[in-house]
Amino acid sequence: MASALPPSEARVALVTGSTSGIGRAIAVRLAATGHDVVLHGRDEERAAKAAAEVASETGGLTDSVHGDVADPGLVSAMMRQIYQRHGRLDALVINAGIHAAGLLGMVRHDTVGRLFEVNAIGATHTLQASLRLLRRGADPAVVLISSIMGRAGGPGQAVYSATKASVIGLALAAAKELGPAGIRVNAVAPGYIQTDMLSTLDDQARAATVAATPLGRLGRPDDVARATAFLLSSDASFITGQVIGVDGGLVR
Ligand code: NAD
Repeated sequence: MASALPPSEARVALVTGSTSGIGRAIAVRLAATGHDVVLHGRDEERAAKAAAEVASETGGLTDSVHGDVADPGLVSAMMRQIYQRHGRLDALVINAGIHAAGLLGMVRHDTVGRLFEVNAIGATHTLQASLRLLRRGADPAVVLISSIMGRAGGPGQAVYSATKASVIGLALAAAKELGPAGIRVNAVAPGYIQTDMLSTLDDQARAATVAATPLGRLGRPDDVARATAFLLSSDASFITGQVIGVDGGLVR
């Protein structure tokens, strides 16, 4: 559904990068559990379509904003729209991200720049621009989606891993800075989750990953969604500054 939602008692959540994959699964879970969810994507039409789909799937209230998270002006404009429509944010999930692999010495400068711009700088813009809305929220909580690569690294993943480690640093520092204002901040570090992002994994690599995973399977987007929803909920009211792996035991 579109703009100008009536004020509601439901918690107001923004999930960046929620037109597909993990972000969409998080939007579905939050919409199904009493949140008014603002979906987000780079493209206006895709974001509006995803919001309409999630509303009809869950019976929840949704709307959408759009814009490249690497552009601080667009991120601020998104937050202004949310202020006009909802007046506050109770839950924020910083999920938008891109992946690119490449051995050290072989990664193009523009690929390095774009990975940092979207994953690290985009997450920072989003958190900074959302603060005024979060301060107006009820029991506000933030989850940043990092990666197993941000905790453990992997060959061919150095640049992506560096961007995702920076997301962890952002979460840990923000938890300390924002705790006194009652804003909780945690990071979730997914392992190998079956989304478009995993499409580059060939059958052999997929089988090796499953074999190395104590729980013996790849993750599903909803595995990450459930952990994220928990961290945003009052069940996690004394949890902040944590990095929760959702990886089937791959990183211990
Ligand atoms: P996905 O490609 O399905 O989703 C990525 C989302 O981010 C999309 O909605 C896309 O539109 C959005 N996005 C990308 N660049 C953007 C930009 N510049 N501005 C605005 N939106 C942008 O992939 P996914 O697997 O669902 O990934 C979601 C998050 O989970 C990412 O941060 C990713 O790094 C992380 N992650 C994924 C896996 C995995 O195995 N799939 C593992 C660990 C972490």
